[in-house]
Amino acid sequence: MDLREIRGQLRTSSSVVFFGGAGTSTESNIPDFRTAGGLYNRSDPHDRKPEQLLHIHTLLNEPETFFTYYRTHLIHPEAQPNKAHRVLANWEKAGLLDTVITQNIDGLHQKAGSSNVLELHGSAHRNYCMECLRPAALDHVIQSTTVPRCTHCQGMVRPDVVLYGEELDMDVMNRAVNAVRSADFLIIGGTSLVVYPAAGLISVFSGRNLLLINKEPTVYDDRARWVIHDSIGEVLSQLAQ
Ligand SMILES: [Zn+2]
Repeated sequence: MDLREIRGQLRTSSSVVFFGGAGTSTESNIPDFRTAGGLYNRSDPHDRKPEQLLHIHTLLNEPETFFTYYRTHLIHPEAQPNKAHRVLANWEKAGLLDTVITQNIDGLHQKAGSSNVLELHGSAHRNYCMECLRPAALDHVIQSTTVPRCTHCQGMVRPDVVLYGEELDMDVMNRAVNAVRSADFLIIGGTSLVVYPAAGLISVFSGRNLLLINKEPTVYDDRARWVIHDSIGEVLSQLAQ
């Protein structure tokens, strides 16, 4: 793979967008529960899958079960941005990158310094009371031993993340679609592209410069101008040189 060609194209493109999946965060030691080696088959005593435990019905009907699982597997306050996050933040500051679109809820892009980040699945760092809608701190959710309660009205506090059984935030999704549609260089990293809405986003990209970086092959490899099956942190670091 000749990275010089990609590097040159990156620097002369007018709008570069990065779209990242769980693989962007696994290099910060955050497990991907959708891929092999992730959280599957390490479920609760009832042997339910993450899709069931992280379902809106579980939050509403069995909140203790939900929060026990959520706190253990979805919150990683100690995680630090990796090379991929840092390169992308530097590119944004240098005016080389317009938008980061992510399926992750860990806030690591912002922690690395990115500011134009579209979080398709929300963020674990935002939490709010389901009754009075007042915001609550992530620490409050972490420190509650059972179900986190609002300090004002005792309503249940929930994370502002899109759970199974819930719709995506259409405003965020529309902004992501517009960003991809107007991009002339799209980097997709760390996603197998099988989970909605990833497949939908790639379909609105009409430019020629599609770079796919994923450790495993994806169903869209044929459509990309460049495909690199490697660590996203390593590849972006090399591109940044
Ligand atoms: Zn409240």
